[in-house]
Amino acid sequence: MEVYIHNPEATMGKYCLECNGKILVGPKKYCSDYCRSTYNSKLNKDNKNLIRNINNRLRKNYRTLEELNPDGKTKTTKSRLLDKEFDFEYITNTYTTKKGTTYFFLYDRYRLPPFG
Ligand SMILES: [Zn+2]
Repeated sequence: MEVYIHNPEATMGKYCLECNGKILVGPKKYCSDYCRSTYNSKLNKDNKNLIRNINNRLRKNYRTLEELNPDGKTKTTKSRLLDKEFDFEYITNTYTTKKGTTYFFLYDRYRLPPFG
């Protein structure tokens, strides 16, 4: 009987991605269903944490803008935003005009002052 191994990284004699135990029957990435589901749920959790952390930073930025803009039409400066620990890495979208000026937005609601 011929055996085709499609993924040479995950085969008999290699080690389980979760527990590092030797895989006795291949081709597999995990030694058991338990390890597979543990590994995958950790992966999902990490992804969720990543998304949550970014969302938290965006939310914090948004709150800062709300604070600085109580009447909905305040202009502010970059240095004022920096004083409030605004994080310019966390914006939601950009818009570049035909002339090549790029504006940065947070949730389509706020246009940020120039970065320069
Ligand atoms: Zn395992």
